[in-house]
Amino acid sequence: MDLAFGAEDQQFREEIRQFLTDNLPADIQQRQRDTRTLASNTHDLQRWMQILDARGWSVPHWETAYGGTDWSPLKKFIFEEELHQADAPEFHWQSTHMIGPIIYMFGSDAQKARYLPSIRRGDYLWCQGFSEPGAGSDLVSLKTMAIREGDHFRVNGQKIWTSAAFESEWGFFLVKTDMNVKPQRGISFLLIDMETPGITVRRIGQINGEAELCEVFLDDVMVPAENLVGEAGMGWTYAKALLDHERTVSSFIHFNKRELRRAKEIAQAETAGGRRLIDDPQTRARLVALDAQVTALEWSVLRVLADEPNRYGGTAAASTLKITGSRLQQAITELQADLLGPRALRYYDPVDWNEPASPLWPHHVAGRTSAALISRASTIYGGSEQVQKNILGKIAFGL
Ligand SMILES: Cc1cc2nc3c(=O)[nH]c(=O)nc-3n(C[C@H](O)[C@H](O)[C@H](O)COP(=O)(O)OP(=O)(O)OC[C@H]3O[C@@H](n4cnc5c(N)ncnc54)[C@H](O)[C@@H]3O)c2cc1C
Repeated sequence: MDLAFGAEDQQFREEIRQFLTDNLPADIQQRQRDTRTLASNTHDLQRWMQILDARGWSVPHWETAYGGTDWSPLKKFIFEEELHQADAPEFHWQSTHMIGPIIYMFGSDAQKARYLPSIRRGDYLWCQGFSEPGAGSDLVSLKTMAIREGDHFRVNGQKIWTSAAFESEWGFFLVKTDMNVKPQRGISFLLIDMETPGITVRRIGQINGEAELCEVFLDDVMVPAENLVGEAGMGWTYAKALLDHERTVSSFIHFNKRELRRAKEIAQAETAGGRRLIDDPQTRARLVALDAQVTALEWSVLRVLADEPNRYGGTAAASTLKITGSRLQQAITELQADLLGPRALRYYDPVDWNEPASPLWPHHVAGRTSAALISRASTIYGGSEQVQKNILGKIAFGL
């Protein structure tokens, strides 16, 4: 196992950097840096997806037959790292990393032809309708029903915490199609046009002032049977395949590296009692401790990537990365807010997002409190910390 970046990888990194210098629009970069929240500005994201698509890089992690690249896991890691470091818009995960691979792995030829090109171009957004009130960690107990009626399914039920549902054109939903088998066997995977009559989307206010999360109510929603992915009753299997597809993603490693760098920049720029915070021993100690943890996390991610062909210790490794990465995300963004002191409160006036930087409100202030607040959610979504620990206990320790 060789964890070092070789000459070819370094050359690849330079190529990506040059591409970003030449192609990432400055206005998008600035907005992304200053308004970092749960979601990217949709218009910016779509503009950026078109730029990436023109270069053949909008879905590099996909299989080549569907528009992906033949890059090694390490090259994909470098690509994502450079995009993060340059403050490029984040991929819209539900579209490019969730439903895209599901469609090319399990969808019909007609579904592949219809949806994959538009996902590659970022034409529209997809939302993920899995969680329900009463079915989050215990997802298998979901209750939304889809009854087959001729060439349609009639869907009734409610989803919650559906990110970006209010601005998504399409959604992928887990629904119950059979109550007479054990729960895992009765779940199916449906693609639903969010404009279909009977769908009501209600946004949920968040602690960081946004309302990106939604409730989705489905009342007698008629969905064409051709929108069923794969076989009826196999939805649970497909959903699990999705979770296995990208095992290192939830380490948030690229986010953590970039935000730690930003924390150091803030510590260099901010002062207290006439002294730069970076010269304060307590601040230095916090930064150094976090630096060591981020480095350790990065090496763990690289180790998992190096072992990718063997799929060694798969799920246990993914759970460990998720627990460590999400805790670090919270610790780093909290440090940023601490370093800003009273300036951290500046977030509460959204107008300042568009204000030019000034000595009183330099650019490094914008968006930091929002990031710190929304990072509280990272130990919940994608499998809560307690559930990850249960998985670890079972797989790694046989409990
Ligand atoms: C920011 C954000 C975005 C999200 N986006 C989406 C989305 O786009 N689509 C979607 O479908 N869902 C989404 N979710 C929902 C997310 O998947 C759920 O919140 C998550 O699965 C937890 O479910 P829950 O909220 O129902 O909490 P619960 O499952 O009710 O858990 C409540 C508490 O009990 C603990 N707990 C639960 N079971 C166990 C157990 N067996 N052992 C020990 N402790 C346990 C949990 O860790 C947690 O602390 C999002 C959530 C957040 C916060």
